[in-house]
Amino acid sequence: MYPRLVCNIEKIKNNITTILDLSKQKNINISAVVKGMSAWPDVVEVIVKSGVTSVADSRLLNLKKISHIPAEKLLLRIPMISELNDVVKFADISLNSEMETINLLDTICKNEKLKHGIMLMIDVGDRREGILPKDISKYIGAIKNLKNIYVAGVGMNITCYGAVLPSKENLSILVKCAQEMESALGYKLRYISGGNSSSYMYMLNGNLPEKINHLRLGEVLLQGRETEFGRIVSGLDNDTFFLQAEVIELKVKSSLPEGRQGIDGFGNKPSFEDKGLRKRAIVAIGRQDINMNTYSPFDSGIEVLGASSDHMILDVTDSKQKISVGSIIDFHINYEGLLSLSTSEYVHKVILREEDL
Ligand SMILES: *Cc1c(COP(=O)(O)O)cnc(C)c1O
Repeated sequence: MYPRLVCNIEKIKNNITTILDLSKQKNINISAVVKGMSAWPDVVEVIVKSGVTSVADSRLLNLKKISHIPAEKLLLRIPMISELNDVVKFADISLNSEMETINLLDTICKNEKLKHGIMLMIDVGDRREGILPKDISKYIGAIKNLKNIYVAGVGMNITCYGAVLPSKENLSILVKCAQEMESALGYKLRYISGGNSSSYMYMLNGNLPEKINHLRLGEVLLQGRETEFGRIVSGLDNDTFFLQAEVIELKVKSSLPEGRQGIDGFGNKPSFEDKGLRKRAIVAIGRQDINMNTYSPFDSGIEVLGASSDHMILDVTDSKQKISVGSIIDFHINYEGLLSLSTSEYVHKVILREEDL
């Protein structure tokens, strides 16, 4: 059935083992961030079987989907007060920055006779989540009094909103915060978490400060791309996931629309180049499933002309493939494409195993 999102599981395994080998060598713990594929349970299972002991996602619903898989679970997005009952059920550790939320977590844990770990987030400059470094003593002073919450770690998140890159400076702010927290708490933190895939090259090159012992890795693990420079890491696989969609119409038509022109289905006024008559294919997938510019055909002879909600239009005139109605077209996808395809309930999810290759 099509369209389908295909996972090449051998390539995922390669990425996992390569990254785990490196992280062991550098004494860094890894949480595998699986939100990029909506915590696809069969793939998460393989990731855990390959040796990953900690799995992370921003969505509680995703952690719920994988609650049967034996691994530590981290909730990456600061929890909503309205979801705290489930947070303590489906996450072992949640990332936090609000005292009000942490206090309520403590109350729920007390009632449920549970312990819950928090990773206190520090804003070192990206200006997304986190408390400011100057406020640590205030927060730790309050958290210390809570009986059912322990501080499992401290973390920073960068290169997400403000596009701030990792640096000696912001990493050492984190280290200083960790030291301050440990001496105020009187115990060692399990995780001192130096960021996401944008910190990967710091680990690879041995440039993480010694005290940093944890990274939360999504994109580099799922698609082999570090996000400091946006490069594919050598030895890692990028084409771990791809899209297959089916041709439903194939006709020779003029490259220019005909008639009085207004705006398209998405409020834009498109312009067209006159290339004369072209062979055009419509494939059954659209912007409801995947955004423009997040995919590209394997076949360099195929050009993406555009898409509406449910139709993607291709120029296949220069393709060397024999395309007909019912043909399947393959596409590379980037991380954003993977996120939306895995979210779409209209896209079938298929794992390609070794025996299928
Ligand atoms: C998404 C996310 C990550 C992982 O980011 P990648 O760039 O995919 O490695 C790590 N930490 C937090 C808080 C996140 O939201």
